[in-house]
Amino acid sequence: MTFHAKFSGYADPALHSAGLYIGGKWQSGRGITVLDPSTGNLLAEVADASIEDAQRAVDAAHAAAAGWRATPARQRSEILRRWYQLMTQHAEELATLIALENGKALVDARGEVAYAAEFFRWYAEEATRIPGEFRRTPSGSHNILVDHEPIGIAVLITPWNFPAAMATRKIGPALAAGCTVILKPASETPLTAYAMARLGEEAGVPPGVVNVLTTSNPGGIANAMLADSRVRKLSFTGSTGVGRVLLAEAAKSVVSCSMELGGNAPFIVFDDADLEAALDGAMIAKMRNAGEACTAANRFYVQAGIHDAFVAGLTARMMSLKIGPGYDPETQCGPMITQNAVRKIDRLVSEALAAGARATTGGKPLTENGYFYPPTVLENVPVNASIAREEIFGPVAPVYKFESDDEAIRLANNTEYGLAAYIYSRDLKRAMTVGKHIETGMLGINRGLMSDPAAPFGGVKQSGLGREGGVTGILEFMEPKYYAVDY
Ligand code: NAD
Repeated sequence: MTFHAKFSGYADPALHSAGLYIGGKWQSGRGITVLDPSTGNLLAEVADASIEDAQRAVDAAHAAAAGWRATPARQRSEILRRWYQLMTQHAEELATLIALENGKALVDARGEVAYAAEFFRWYAEEATRIPGEFRRTPSGSHNILVDHEPIGIAVLITPWNFPAAMATRKIGPALAAGCTVILKPASETPLTAYAMARLGEEAGVPPGVVNVLTTSNPGGIANAMLADSRVRKLSFTGSTGVGRVLLAEAAKSVVSCSMELGGNAPFIVFDDADLEAALDGAMIAKMRNAGEACTAANRFYVQAGIHDAFVAGLTARMMSLKIGPGYDPETQCGPMITQNAVRKIDRLVSEALAAGARATTGGKPLTENGYFYPPTVLENVPVNASIAREEIFGPVAPVYKFESDDEAIRLANNTEYGLAAYIYSRDLKRAMTVGKHIETGMLGINRGLMSDPAAPFGGVKQSGLGREGGVTGILEFMEPKYYAVDY
């Protein structure tokens, strides 16, 4: 792996060693270029794994599996705990690395590192509390005993928008459960994953328990690993489109799948909401990671009585944000991940404008170097515009006016997605009643940020299958085994 000269000034070189990490060995290589999204310049080049490399990674995970499974839970827990501590000690370097390769503002990158490390701490604790069951059959004649066993080798595929947290949210429970893993991070942001693997090594993760590989052929590599009968789990975070393809591929070997897919979160503001609180929440729900989050508020439904004040307040806040490279400490809104991402946002906004929407701020891409799109607020957006159906994944807030609670529910549910939703109202009974009818895996009531390692994260409808985090997250990496016992 080679690094752009600028790198050394920003991050500890010890944290970004070589390329592929297989069976506890580092294998340097080239082929995947990592760009700085704030300039488009080359940041680094990392190894490009072949199908053979992927097979070696499965061999390594297999060779380590029996030993790791037999390692006492307390010991697995302590390794995860040390990994958490090392991430915390190196938080600033990791945050800088994330800001460099992903482009998000340092403040968001720091938040991500803290959130990511917390998954290791949480699962260090959960490793020692794996549940079991002992019951009498209803007839009273026999006993039912249920144990949970590690599911087996797990393939973990993660997106670029949370390079640290999406990896730890999978590695933490997998290792706690006793599984060995192969992590394939997104090729836009591989440096953070490799840096974390370094820290894992230092924390005492045995060779082969965690393997990391980057590739320009994700489909080929994923298919090869899923076709290997030793692989029993796929945990994927990414777009619904790729999720569908992977589910079909996993079906061929009946591999267990956990899927964290796309979102299209409604953010509902009722007339009785505390306006300032709703605006604070809207800024977090929309602008964390410059809108590049699966939980990002994608559709703002605002009741007629508070609509104009909300649009004015949101416009003022969005206009005041400082745009710049993520690693500049002053930046509040960093670049998008790629030029393609900017093009997609531009298409959605242009179509909405052509259909009668009005931009109260922003509305077209910035022309300087890098992949920048300015914070944008749109009002008078038609409810059936493509921007209401597709993930924007950028700093654009389309606002729609509604009249009644029923209308808000109907509009909120008018999507194939069901990951996150937000409601702002001073009337908790109303918020809970409306919330009950919203088809979503997660609901923020008077809160713009809901992610918490101790809570179950995931979606309904086409936003996914299964949950990560919380007390159930570990069970995604385990199989119940039922013993019918008589004595
Ligand atoms: P993506 O689906 O394009 O890529 C995700 C990962 O899958 C990457 O590592 C990519 O290399 C890999 N991949 C791509 N094609 C593949 C294939 N055919 N086979 C196997 N792997 C393949 O998504 P992205 O653009 O990296 O991330 C953004 C998406 O992720 C958004 O839709 C967002 O909502 C979603 N996301 C969801 C959650 C969640 O928890 N639900 C969290 C973060 C992001």
